[in-house]
Amino acid sequence: MEPLVAAIDQGTSSTRFLVFNAKTAELICHHQVEINQSFPKEGWVEEDPREIMQSVYECMERTCEKLCQLNINVSNIKAVGVTNQRETTLVWDKETGEPLYNAIVWLDLRTQSTVERLINKAPGRNKNHLKHKTGLPISTYFSAVKLRWLLDNVDGIQEAVLNERAMFGTVDSWIIWCLTGGRNGGVHCTDMSNASRTMLFNIHTMDWDPELCRYFDIPMEILPKVRSSSEIYGWMKSGSLAGIPISGCLGDQSAALVGQMCFQEGQAKNTYGTGCFLLRNTGTKPVMSEHGLLTTVAYKLGKDEPACYALEGSVAIAGAVVRWLKDNMGIVQSSSEIEKLAAAAGTSYGCYFVPAFSGLYAPYWEPSARGIICGLTQFTNRNHLAFAALEAVCFQTREILDAMNQDSGVPLTQLQVDGGMTSNRLLMQLQADILCMPVVRPTMSETTALGAAMAAGAAEGVRVWTLSPGQLPHVTSEKYEPQINSDESEFRFGRWKKAVQKAMNWET
Ligand code: ADP
Repeated sequence: MEPLVAAIDQGTSSTRFLVFNAKTAELICHHQVEINQSFPKEGWVEEDPREIMQSVYECMERTCEKLCQLNINVSNIKAVGVTNQRETTLVWDKETGEPLYNAIVWLDLRTQSTVERLINKAPGRNKNHLKHKTGLPISTYFSAVKLRWLLDNVDGIQEAVLNERAMFGTVDSWIIWCLTGGRNGGVHCTDMSNASRTMLFNIHTMDWDPELCRYFDIPMEILPKVRSSSEIYGWMKSGSLAGIPISGCLGDQSAALVGQMCFQEGQAKNTYGTGCFLLRNTGTKPVMSEHGLLTTVAYKLGKDEPACYALEGSVAIAGAVVRWLKDNMGIVQSSSEIEKLAAAAGTSYGCYFVPAFSGLYAPYWEPSARGIICGLTQFTNRNHLAFAALEAVCFQTREILDAMNQDSGVPLTQLQVDGGMTSNRLLMQLQADILCMPVVRPTMSETTALGAAMAAGAAEGVRVWTLSPGQLPHVTSEKYEPQINSDESEFRFGRWKKAVQKAMNWET
């Protein structure tokens, strides 16, 4: 039996555990569990860390059962990688092993007033005041302000810090700590791709930055140790996979970049999940954007390997708008049903939907923007609205792709895509039409998990996977060519931009 490598993919909407053949990258089996989100107040988004861990355990055990049904011995799994929703912030007590509050999800807006205060205080009220160190604008999106909120507002956290019991982590750290033993010797670590999303990490020195920690008043002793994205962090302590090394760790967007084999400078991918994230590999040099993109650590695949960076365009709401139409409006029963509705309309009939539920991220970074639907007539129905929602995802991608092309000077000629939403063929065609360029989707769409599994399998001490260019697995794909003329797509994009202006200034 050829060696297998597994990945835990802990996303915003669900947790998955997947097992791949380390020679062919074939997906052998997997299990997925949806995650509940709670919205305790307007703009707040939380998840329960215990539920996250239960979902991880459940996915692992169910997948192991499926492997047994396939007559495959679980001991063929040589390593496990972790990939996760980034920026989502947790604090737990290392003595009890219990979380001290819910996880504050990356989309959460509770820190908007803190962010406004920090920007007003910054020289020239410049939101990019810390960008030279972090690659990021000051925003509600990143972990530092969420952690600040936890320290200021949750009873017991300050006390746990004083008693040296508090641990901070993003979801990767929480999962690895729990799986490697938790309060009985769990490993408290993160990788550089995740650390670079906290705003406490210096992307040049590649370590936590004391000045940034002072700026946000964060005690450095609660931070996890920063490691590379591919090395043995520890071993599974219990369950069917006990004794197997955990040897890959990548934020979800970095993992997708690896899973799409974008190892060369200039290569890019766009992932459509809860949000939408376009990353372009810029090689071993961090490139600072002039057009509202982030500079982030893409990956460092081994202790002695160089770190690679990426330019990133982040869109807060992509699949989340479909979930909103399902959960809040009841327009569809399932996310996939939206394709049928949109296809029945075949047009938005002049309706534009800017889903700025959490403000607008790239390229605007405007936390006070709010969602808007405009261009409604007596004729508009839910099918048009469904179409407008999907079109919004495509327009937002067009905006970040334009910014990316302006920053790099070398335009992309096609877009490699992945993520949960890309099973929607209408969306893929619409995206090719709005970009006026081909969109290429791998037939195996679990590229995020594949990237984490590759990082785990390539780690020193495991080495069942080689990441050298000639030996990468061959991935088959399908291609969507643009079918409308560019005048038509420019016209619609122009209208979209007008709607965005209204979403940004809806109160004035
Ligand atoms: P994440 O990694 O952020 O948890 P996934 O990649 O699992 O996200 O994608 C889930 C998101 O994609 C959900 O927000 C869901 O509403 C949306 N989605 C899933 N399938 C479809 C579909 N066929 N059409 C449109 N949206 C979809």
